[in-house]
Amino acid sequence: MNANTQKERIGRSNRLSLLSTGLALLIAFILLMVHQYVVSRSLMVEVLHTEAAIIGANSTAALVFNDTKAAQEIIGTVRLSPRITGGALYRADGNQLASASDGRWNFPSSLMSAGDQDAQKLIEVPNSTAYGIFGGVLRQDIHVEDAKVGTLLLHVSFSSLYWRMLEYALGVLGIATVALTLAYRLTSGLRRRMVRAEEKLEQLAFYDPVTGLPNRRLFERELRLAVARVARERVGAALLFIDVDDFKKVNDALGHAAGDQVLKMIGERMTAALRSGDVVARLGGDEFAAILFGIGDAENAARVAGLMIESIAMPFPTQPTSSHVGLSMGVLLLPADDNDPAVLLRRADMAMYVAKTHGKNSFHFFSEAIDARVRSDLALEAGLRQALQEGGRGLWMAYQPQLCAQTRQLVGVEALVRWQREDGRQTSPGEFIPVAEQTGLITELGDWVLNQVCRDLATLRASGVELPKVSVNVSPRQLLRGSSVVERFCATLDRFGEPVNRFEFELTESALMEEGGSVVLDAFHAAGLSISIDDFGTGYSSLGYLKRFRVNEIKIDQSFVRDLPMGSENAAIVTAVIQMSRALNLKVVAEGVETEAQAEFLRTCGCHILQGFLLGRPMPPAALVAYINERQSVAMHQDIA
Ligand code: C2E
Ligand code: MG
Ligand code: MG
Repeated sequence: MNANTQKERIGRSNRLSLLSTGLALLIAFILLMVHQYVVSRSLMVEVLHTEAAIIGANSTAALVFNDTKAAQEIIGTVRLSPRITGGALYRADGNQLASASDGRWNFPSSLMSAGDQDAQKLIEVPNSTAYGIFGGVLRQDIHVEDAKVGTLLLHVSFSSLYWRMLEYALGVLGIATVALTLAYRLTSGLRRRMVRAEEKLEQLAFYDPVTGLPNRRLFERELRLAVARVARERVGAALLFIDVDDFKKVNDALGHAAGDQVLKMIGERMTAALRSGDVVARLGGDEFAAILFGIGDAENAARVAGLMIESIAMPFPTQPTSSHVGLSMGVLLLPADDNDPAVLLRRADMAMYVAKTHGKNSFHFFSEAIDARVRSDLALEAGLRQALQEGGRGLWMAYQPQLCAQTRQLVGVEALVRWQREDGRQTSPGEFIPVAEQTGLITELGDWVLNQVCRDLATLRASGVELPKVSVNVSPRQLLRGSSVVERFCATLDRFGEPVNRFEFELTESALMEEGGSVVLDAFHAAGLSISIDDFGTGYSSLGYLKRFRVNEIKIDQSFVRDLPMGSENAAIVTAVIQMSRALNLKVVAEGVETEAQAEFLRTCGCHILQGFLLGRPMPPAALVAYINERQSVAMHQDIA
C-alpha cells in the first residue's frame, strides 16, 4: 500500500469520525436546548403568576376606593420587570382604572369594548391567560373576600427567555467546540494507529508476507473476477499454476531466510515478465499462480510461459552460493466449461503435475486426457489405500523364476506384486506403483510386500519347496525416510525367521543418486542385505556408483534384451555390460528373455542368470510349486535316461 493511499485513508477516517462526533453533538445540543426551553418557560410562567398575585394584592385598596393615582403607581411598577412590557387595572365594572405600557400598544379603556379611538394598536384581551410563542396576556381577577373587585391584565414578553436561551446556546456551542477540538486532537494519533492496524490486518489477510504478492484467498477472488471478465469482454485469458522445482534444495542448503529471499525474487521476476494488468500470487510453499489477460491463443500463452521459465533460469544471488531453481507450470486457457476457481486451479495444478513428470522446468496445457488420468489415479489411490487398510485385500505376490544361464537350474525368484481390484480387474504394477509412489502409499505397500513374501515362503516350505533366493523390488521413494526402511525390513525377516542372505533388494539406478540415498544403501549393506540394480542401462549407468555402493548384482533391462541377438548395437551394449560386471565381480541377470536365441546369446556372453517368459512367467505360489516340481521330475527323467 503506498503512502498516498495511506494518507487518503487516514484523512477519510478523520473526516468520518469528525462527522459522526459532530452529528452526535448536534443531536445532544438540540435535546439540551429543547429541555432548557421547556424548563425555563415554565419557570418564567410561574414567576409571572407570582408577580401578578403580588400586584393584585397590592392594588385591592386602590380598586375598592377607586384611587386612580394609587392604582397608577402600583401598575407603574410592572415596568421594572423585564418579563412584563405593560399592565392595566380594571374595576369590577370593566372600566380601566390605570395602565402602563412601553408605548407600542395600548390597553383598551374597557374590558367590554375592544374598540377605541386611539390610533395605537390595541391589545386583544382574552377571557383568560393566553400565551403564544413570543409572549401573551396574563389575565387575573382580583378578589376581596370572594367578591371580585377588579381585573389585572399584564402584557408579557418572552424575549428575555429567548435572549437567555441564545446566551445559553452560544455558551454550550463554545464548550462543545472546545471539547470537540480537544477530543479530535487527542484521538487523531489513535485513529492513525487504528488505520495502520487495519491496513496491516488487510495485508495479512490477502497478501503473502514473504513476497508481498496476493495470497491464495485474494487470488481466488481475482480468478472469480477474471472468469466474469472473460465472459463479459470475450477476451481470452490463461491461468497458470506454477511450482518451483528444487526449491527444497535451496531451503535445505542455505536455510529458510535465503529460501524466503529466493521466493521474493521469483515473485519479482515473474511479475516483471508479465503485463501490468496480469495477476501473480503465491498460493503457499513453493507454489505460485498467475492470470494472464488478453492472451489470445495457446501459442501466445506458451510464449509467455516460456518467458517466465526463462526469467527464473538465471541464478539467484544468495549467500554464500547462488541458487538455481526452475519452474514447472500447468496452463489452463479461459473461458473453460467450469467457473469455480477451485476447479480451475485444480485443473491447472493437474497440468503442472504432468509438466513435472515430463521433466522439470517446463509447462503443460490442461486437457481432458489429463483430467481423465488424474481421476483414474485418484480412484487407484483410494482403492489401494483401502486394500492396504484391509490387510492387503486383493493384493497378492507373483513369483517369476530366475534360472542359471548355463544349467537352467532355478537359482531364485523375483517377487512381483499383483492387485485384483474389487470389480475383479487385474491392475498392473506399472499402473499402481507410480500412484503409490506419488501418494506415499509405497512405504506401506513395500512393508506389506515383504511380509507377504515371508508368509508365501512359509507356505512354500510347507509344500516342500525351499527357495534359494528371493528378489524384492524397492522403490526409491521407500528410501526417502532414511534407514528406518532397513530396520523395518530386518525386523520383518527376523519375525519370520528368514535369513537375510536369502533376499536381494532390487533398486533402480535413480535410488543411488537420490539425496540421502547413500546413507540408506550403507544401512542395507551393514545389515547384510544384498542390493541388485534393476533396469540397468535405463538410468545413469554409473560404474562409480556400482563400486561406491557395493552393489551385488545388476539386472540388464529388458529393452536391451528384446532384439538380441539381431540388434548389433544392443548386442554390443549387453556384451560390454556383462564383461564390465564380471570384471567388477557382480552377478548379471538378464530380464525379459523371451526366446531361445536370446538365452543362448546371453549364455555365451557370460550372463549368469536369465529371467523372462521363455523360462517362466510371474506366477502365484501354488503354480510355482507345480513349476518347480515339474522341472525336478523332468531333470530326474533326464538323469535316468
Ligand atoms: P521390474 O522389477 O523390472 O519387473 C520386471 C517386469 O518385467 C515385470 O513386470 C515382469 O512381469 C516383466 N517381465 C518379466 N519377464 C518378461 C518378458 O519376458 N517379457 C516381457 N515383456 N516382460 C517381462 P510387472 O510385474 O508388470 O512389474 C512392472 C514393474 O513394477 C517392475 O519392473 C517393478 O519395477 C514394479 N514392481 C513390481 N512389483 C513391485 C513391488 O513389489 N514393489 C515395487 N516397488 N515395485 C514393483
Ligand atoms: Mg525388478
Ligand atoms: Mg526390471
